[in-house]
Formats: sequence, structure tokens, C-alpha cells
Amino acid sequence: MNGDTPRSGELDLCYQDDPQLLPAAEATRRILAHVPLIEDSEEVALAGALGRVLASDVLAPIDVPGHTNAAVDGYALAAAALPRDDGGTGEAHLRITGTAMAGKPHDGVIGPGECARIMTGAVMPRGTDTVVMQEHVSRDGEHVRIATGHRGGQNVRHAGEDLRAGQVMLAEGTRLLPAALGMLASVGVGQLQVRRMLKVAYFSTGDELRGLGEPLEPGQVYDSNRYTLRGMLMRLGVEFHDMGVVRDDPDRLREAIDAACARADVVLSSGGVSTGDADYVKGILEQRGQVGFWRVAIRPGRPLAFGRLGRAVFFGLPGNPVAVMMTFYQFVQPALLAMMGVRAPAPIPLLEATCPEPLRKKPGRVEYFRAVLTRDADGVLRVRPTGRTGSGLLHTMNDANCLIVLPEQSGSLEAGSIVPVQPFFGLV
Ligand code: AMP
Ligand code: MG
Repeated sequence: MNGDTPRSGELDLCYQDDPQLLPAAEATRRILAHVPLIEDSEEVALAGALGRVLASDVLAPIDVPGHTNAAVDGYALAAAALPRDDGGTGEAHLRITGTAMAGKPHDGVIGPGECARIMTGAVMPRGTDTVVMQEHVSRDGEHVRIATGHRGGQNVRHAGEDLRAGQVMLAEGTRLLPAALGMLASVGVGQLQVRRMLKVAYFSTGDELRGLGEPLEPGQVYDSNRYTLRGMLMRLGVEFHDMGVVRDDPDRLREAIDAACARADVVLSSGGVSTGDADYVKGILEQRGQVGFWRVAIRPGRPLAFGRLGRAVFFGLPGNPVAVMMTFYQFVQPALLAMMGVRAPAPIPLLEATCPEPLRKKPGRVEYFRAVLTRDADGVLRVRPTGRTGSGLLHTMNDANCLIVLPEQSGSLEAGSIVPVQPFFGLV
């Protein structure tokens, strides 16, 4: 990547512009150092456990699979019955002496010169350790002929190869995703001890904001932040309380903040954290709790308030709709996951892609560009910014399928640079 070295004076200028700019990594460190873990736990049924976080290790009560079984439909036999694979034209000629179906084992023993018809998932009959796929035999009445080219032990799934009885199959702090739900069902576990749900209350601030269904007067806008926040919170699996719109009025804001802190572990507000004439959140929080106001070195999303108000954790997010999403994903989501007790959430690996357009950037802050990632016919990953970068342009978040993430030290990049990319979607 080019542009790693700031052009002369640019870095200094940037910090002179805004000497209180806090590096993004430092903001994350401070937030994670201050958020408390939710200790309480409760029992839930497996069917309702998606997204919940295990409060203790789960030990496998049984082996999975519980018995050694066939991985394909075919014929079960002893490895010794296979024709010798010595380049000759040998064939084995075996008599079918029984059938094993999934859920209906064959009770007999398979002796020399014999085999059993077997279906996927059926228990391997005594005397067998190998399965030959039905497509690889010639059947002739009650006999099969098997040519060379097979391996002893093939096409067999062994008891306990997925999970062993007694092992820690899922550790405390695991956030239950679809595979984990299936694993728990596979060992017969239907009830689980999980951490209680995190309670998050949120409200929007601004005299210009109107709710859905209300007519818009000149200069008014619909409140969209509560809906993006709601979507992001729903995905995380927290209990959320939408507390509506609060006017730019110190008394109303004070009441809203007190009500939110009384009922929630985390309170999120959007808007009113800058230094404009109607930005009261800062003053109220300073009276009420221990709160830090930061201008974080990211773009979009610079102003951010964070702190404790009594037992609650408070995030004052910016008002601009894109900045709300960026600060949520960057700072709020990791904090919520930590409070929920999620152990070591796997960091999403960044991809690298070629950006055919130049990118303008000042060193000194992390910049996120909404972008679309594609794979060209030549197999190369290419990433293109969605266009204008204003932090009020929410449609650019919807058009994008990834972010280009340019690190603090990076300056502007030429067209054709390789850039780090954070995709929006993963397969979980
Ligand atoms: P503020 O940080 O309160 O100065 O707001 C910055 C910009 O974001 C202004 O243009 C606001 O109108 C806009 N804004 C603030 N809150 C919301 C919201 N909940 N929904 C949509 N736009 C908002
Ligand atoms: Mg405002």
C-alpha cells in the first residue's frame, strides 16, 4: 500500500486541527476496561437459545456418533475381504448375508466371504470395518463383485469422532450460533444455563425529529437512528427498550437519561453530543456521572461520549445516521459483547482488494469508506467506494457490502492500490 508515510506536515496539521483527537484503539481499550460483565444467569430451552451466551462449560454427556456407522449407502465387509491392490485384476466375490439400516441394526456376524447391505448411518455389523459404495460394486442376485482400488476402513464414521462423552464441547462464553444449537441437540441437551439478556435502552435527541406517521413541517426529518439502532441491537440478541425522541431541552433530557439508566444496563443516545447550541447531552452527563467526551480519530463518527451513570453504561453517539452505525459497530458492539460475557469474539479478518479509484484521506485517523466488493472475471477482488462520503447519506450504507478500512497512519491512496476491506456478511 502506498501513502503510509504522511506527506510533510499533514499529520501535525491534523492534530493541530483537533488536539483532543483520541486514537480509535485507545477509545476501544478504555471502553473495554470500564464495562462490567453481566453475572446473572438463567435457564433457557434450546429452541430459544440462538444468540445467548453460555454461563458455564457444557460437557458432552454421550459420544457422537454413539456407534460406528456407515458414511455412504453400500456394502459392509471386513478389510481382509477386499481384493489385494497389487496391480492385478483380482476381484472379490462376496455373498450378501444381511441388511443394516439406519435405526435398524443387523444383529448377525459377517464372516469370511460375506458382506452386508448397509445404508448411511446404519451401525457397522460385527465382523465389518469397511464400506464399499453401492456405485462401486457389481451386484448379481445375492452376490456382489468388488474390484481393486479400495482402502480398508473407508467410508466409516467412528463412534465419538464428532464429540466424546465427558469432553468440554462448548465453553463458557460461547455465543450460541446455529452450529452450536445443533451440537447441543446432538447430545440430547434441551435446557441450558445462559447469561441473562443485556438490557439496552435508547433514544434519539433533536427538536427537528419526527416519528413515523407524523407530518413533516419545514426543516423537520424523520427519526431514522432509532430504527438502525433497533436493527443492530436485535441482531445482537439483547433486550431493548425504545424510549422515543427527546427534545433538545435540558429538563426533558435529564428525565430521559434518568429513566433509561433506571431500567437498563446500557443507555444509547444519538445526537446532541457535539458542541452546537442545542447539544445538551454533554452538560447533563457531566453533572450526573463519570463520563468522558472524546473526539475519536475515526471518520465518519468523531464525537462520542462514553461513561458510567450509576450502574448503567452510557454511550452518546453522534446524530448523523452513518456515524451512528459506524460508532455502534466500532465501539458499542464490542462493549455489548464483552458485557454479555462473550469470550474472545473472533476478530473478523480483513480481506485485501484492489481499489480502482483514488482515495483521499488525511493521516491521523482511521477512515471507513462504504464500498462494494466484487470478484472480477480474472479472479481479482475489486472494491469500489459507493460514492459520496457524507455521514448523513444513509443509503450508502445500504448500497455497500463492505467497508474499506484505512488505518490511522495512511494518507491518500492512488488508483489501483491494494486496500484492507471489512466485509459486512459472514456465514454464521
Ligand atoms: P446532532 O449531532 O444532534 O447535531 O445531529 C447531526 C445531524 O444528524 C443533524 O443533521 C440531525 O438532524 C441529524 N440527526 C440527528 N439525530 C437523528 C435521527 N435520530 N435521525 C435522523 N437524523 C438525525
Ligand atoms: Mg441535534
